[in-house]
Amino acid sequence: MQAMVLNRVSHSEIETPLELLTLPDPVPSEKELLVKVSACGVCHTELDEIEGRLPPPRLPIVLGHQIVGRVARAGQAARFKPGDRVGIAWIYSACGKCEFCLAGNENLCQEFKATGRDAHGGYAEYLTVSEDFAYTIPDVFSDAEAAPLLCAGAIGYRSLRLAGLSDGQNLGLVGFGASAHLVLKMAKHQYPNSRVFVFSRSESERRFALELGAAWAGDIGAPAPEKLAGMIDTTPAWQPIVHALSNLERGGRLVVNAIRKEEADKAVLLQLDYAAHLWLEKEIKSVANVTRRDVGEFLDLAARIPIKPEFQEFALRDANRALVELKARKIRGAKVLRVG
Ligand SMILES: [Zn+2]
Ligand SMILES: [Zn+2]
Repeated sequence: MQAMVLNRVSHSEIETPLELLTLPDPVPSEKELLVKVSACGVCHTELDEIEGRLPPPRLPIVLGHQIVGRVARAGQAARFKPGDRVGIAWIYSACGKCEFCLAGNENLCQEFKATGRDAHGGYAEYLTVSEDFAYTIPDVFSDAEAAPLLCAGAIGYRSLRLAGLSDGQNLGLVGFGASAHLVLKMAKHQYPNSRVFVFSRSESERRFALELGAAWAGDIGAPAPEKLAGMIDTTPAWQPIVHALSNLERGGRLVVNAIRKEEADKAVLLQLDYAAHLWLEKEIKSVANVTRRDVGEFLDLAARIPIKPEFQEFALRDANRALVELKARKIRGAKVLRVG
């Protein structure tokens, strides 16, 4: 099969980190599906993997964790048969036995494996996956529409769930990238009487937030006109955490949806003032990975709303160009590799 392969991690910038190679077709074990990939989303996490900002992937590795394809072989699988359309997300597997897995928090499992980091992902014509970690894609989505939902959408859904909002309570979104757009749409559907307040450095993003139905949009450091019961921070910096806590309502919760925070401005945390930022039972919680429940529930919700992402397609062999353009943030909307 054809695959775009990452052979080494590089801390310096390279234009063509991935190499187009012909690999043997993967062979599924009894309980695994062999999936023929048709679309795979391109994610910022792949740039982090390539440029060494995350724990190193198993090398060489086929990246890609927003995968839509069709079952080519189903072996002993019970839930799927050949020809079924399936999606595969960031969670590739977990042990299934530890206290976290048994409680449905397999995102916290010590043996959590990520698609396209610990196992080959979707920048290829085929991959194998346990049927327990594959999802049915609702019919309303085309393959390319569904792919970008599998990461930003699912983790956005988890963040919103962890924010623990009740209908009518104010929600704050700090940073307004791909995941936050989707959260705004979900929040308006799930909490129709809540108002959403968006914080962004970018004037055009603030305008976009208002177009999508935000009640208010201001700069990252701006004081919100009202206190916010739940907030979700998707920025890579520390400062927004401090600002967010000062806008948080008593007993409110700030969910930090960021895989890492920039080391450079760590000193900012010293600005935390107990009375202004934490007193009166304010909470901070990070969000890590996703569970199968998040992916499954989000796909159903996205179909009902419906959420249809804008996307731009690239051929598999042009994955390097897609990554370079993603990094340059040239065009709004997701990037999807068209495979096969
Ligand atoms: Zn991702
Ligand atoms: Zn486990």
